[in-house]
Amino acid sequence: MYIYIWCFLFFLIGLFCGSLVNVIAGGLIREPRSFVISNCRECNGNWPLYLMAPILGFILSRGRCRLCRSKIKAHILIVELFTGLLFAYLVCRYGLSWELSISIVYSLLLLILIVTDIEKMLLPNAVIYPGFVMVLILSMAVMLLHFRPPWSFLLPEGLAWLNNYLLNVIVGGLTGFILLLMVVIVSRGGMALGDVKLAGLIGLMVGFPMVLVALFVAVILGGLTAIVLLIARRKGKKDPIPFGPFLCLGGMVAMLWGKTLLAWYLAPLM
Ligand SMILES: [Zn+2]
Repeated sequence: MYIYIWCFLFFLIGLFCGSLVNVIAGGLIREPRSFVISNCRECNGNWPLYLMAPILGFILSRGRCRLCRSKIKAHILIVELFTGLLFAYLVCRYGLSWELSISIVYSLLLLILIVTDIEKMLLPNAVIYPGFVMVLILSMAVMLLHFRPPWSFLLPEGLAWLNNYLLNVIVGGLTGFILLLMVVIVSRGGMALGDVKLAGLIGLMVGFPMVLVALFVAVILGGLTAIVLLIARRKGKKDPIPFGPFLCLGGMVAMLWGKTLLAWYLAPLM
């Protein structure tokens, strides 16, 4: 019974965190960078606080900015809802635990990057670099506490040296960074350096071999979305589609279900 109360509570906390993600992402992409209490990307005015209430604010303002009447983008609402549902799922799955706190911190970081990339095709260094430092410090703490996050994968004998958690995430980070750097070099600008750094950050979060799962899921999701957008004629063949959101979603999938996916993929080889 208690778990349902926690679920609901974390759903609400998630909604508010989603709202915060939108505000932070909006501030990061505004030129010049400025953080205002608003979900409007057109004017720089602060909204009355009650309009920032997740979902409710959107309904009360009828999807338009109270100050300049411009339309509020639909993904603002989706991010709020998604964060709420994600938090509820995480607390149901992990209870009040270290697993819960780490996955919440990592997801929020990735959600901010999803919003900035969708809106401006931008993965700000102001998030990525502090992200590197934060994830490294957390990984060090994880190692010192002899705690193993649920996504860390115990490797077979030949690769047993990689079972040291800190070493594992560093190798994961380097793998993500180098693989995407190779894509950038081969595709000559088909992908941006921001995606390379993001793949490095996700590799640091999920370690090795989970980073491969994250990249694999990102490529599949990105490919499917591109096909759907082309068929629906929402995008032309030459229109760029940001890859960052798919990388971030791939990272989240790897964190939550990476082990299951990998076991399923490796099963025929065992
Ligand atoms: Zn406005």
